[in-house]
Amino acid sequence: MAPGTAPTGDTLIVGAGPAGLAAARALREHDLPYTHVERHEAIGGLWDIDNPGSPMYDSAHFISSKTLSGFTGFPMPDEYPDYPHHRQILAYLRAFADHYGLTEAVRTGTTVERIVPTQDGTYEATYADGTTSTHTNVIAASGVQWSPNVVDIPGYDGEIRHSVTYRSPDEFKGRRVLVVGAGNSGCDIACDAARSADHAAISMRRGYWFIPKHIFGMPVDVFAENGPSMPMAVEQAVFGRLLRVINGDVTRLGLQAPDHKLFETHPILNDQLLHHLGHGDITARPGIASASGTEVTFTDGTTEDVDLILLATGYRHTIPFAQDLYGDEQHPELYLTAFGAMPGLFGLGLVETNSGAYGLMEKLGAMVASHIWDREHRPEQWERFERHIAQDKPDLSGGLNMVDSPRHKGYVDSHAMVKYLDYVAKRMGWDIP
Ligand SMILES: Cc1cc2nc3c(=O)[nH]c(=O)nc-3n(C[C@H](O)[C@H](O)[C@H](O)COP(=O)(O)OP(=O)(O)OC[C@H]3O[C@@H](n4cnc5c(N)ncnc54)[C@H](O)[C@@H]3O)c2cc1C
Repeated sequence: MAPGTAPTGDTLIVGAGPAGLAAARALREHDLPYTHVERHEAIGGLWDIDNPGSPMYDSAHFISSKTLSGFTGFPMPDEYPDYPHHRQILAYLRAFADHYGLTEAVRTGTTVERIVPTQDGTYEATYADGTTSTHTNVIAASGVQWSPNVVDIPGYDGEIRHSVTYRSPDEFKGRRVLVVGAGNSGCDIACDAARSADHAAISMRRGYWFIPKHIFGMPVDVFAENGPSMPMAVEQAVFGRLLRVINGDVTRLGLQAPDHKLFETHPILNDQLLHHLGHGDITARPGIASASGTEVTFTDGTTEDVDLILLATGYRHTIPFAQDLYGDEQHPELYLTAFGAMPGLFGLGLVETNSGAYGLMEKLGAMVASHIWDREHRPEQWERFERHIAQDKPDLSGGLNMVDSPRHKGYVDSHAMVKYLDYVAKRMGWDIP
């Protein structure tokens, strides 16, 4: 039998963060057997700040609103603020798992080291303790923020580390800090430094759009969702103008003007960075040109003398236990970000998108479960979808021409994705959230 063509049996879910939990709920709802493993001692994924290697830091909050970010049938509690704290997200995820009876089924402290397809059409998992197990299907829900993307700054001899190691503003006391990179974490951490370091600077290679967390008193995603549906080009023009009214010309704060249209980089939701720049608590710098000792020179010729550089330079989307099966390290080659090249091979949460991710995870989780269910109960449908996976190459950009950078490789527009998932599910006769 060819690899991955065994009849329906058990599914191995690797990882018990939100994606793994969404997969488990979907399999359970389809009465499908599964084995759920998690290398850490408890569930919650990167939202458990105590998990070694978690990118979480004390001041982190959700950047999508509680209103639009919960799982269907289990909204975030009313008493939560618009943008919950990371400990609230962890509590929510654990309550979700308890509510659907998923918690007891997770084998914690169990690390998958390797997944290989076998000749009898199954997949063999090898664990860190040397034991093995065999499964018909595998869902990699192992997250994409565990392998720090570390950049080299030749000539710099102060302390340099990746933001994955950062936890608390106390680390900045009495220090001159340079944060490199202006993703959401980089901007949050620069604001922490503004309040606690002796001096704070942030280096960004390009100009960005900074989106406030509230507009007219509403979380910005709720505001956008409630507005009329517009073609992307119109949306970019309307929101771009609105941001210019709210923020003014950000070059007055030492920032570069954006070199791309609104929404063509991952949205940065932050109103504090502009506040701190306006108060002189942070200095904005362009990209780094060179360094010597503790002095860093930027591309515009300005310099900063700093004793700590924190690299908020993102993560590589690795699947170390099966990279060969999933393909490209930065952008796994999966149909609709979930269906692998081989039957029975899936991924969940291996996606970068521009709104709350849990809605996509649960839709895709339900589609994966439906496809696995079809294998035993509707084999013609199963075969039809396997052929479809190989042929269908949808454009999920939503008309956005994302900037050319590793982070934006394979980036999907959330609205385009939702629309297409609903369309595919309807064609296949699948019931999804
Ligand atoms: C600061 C910050 C803010 C964010 N804000 C938002 C937001 O507002 N909205 C939003 O939707 N998303 C947000 N995200 C994105 C975030 O990635 C998701 O919310 C979510 O945690 C991803 O879920 P996941 O299950 O895919 O991955 P993870 O949460 O990373 O979970 C993966 C799990 O797999 C386990 N695992 C990995 N490898 C193995 C192995 N070999 N064996 C066994 N177990 C393994 C890990 O230990 C982990 O528990 C944010 C991320 C960060 C860092």
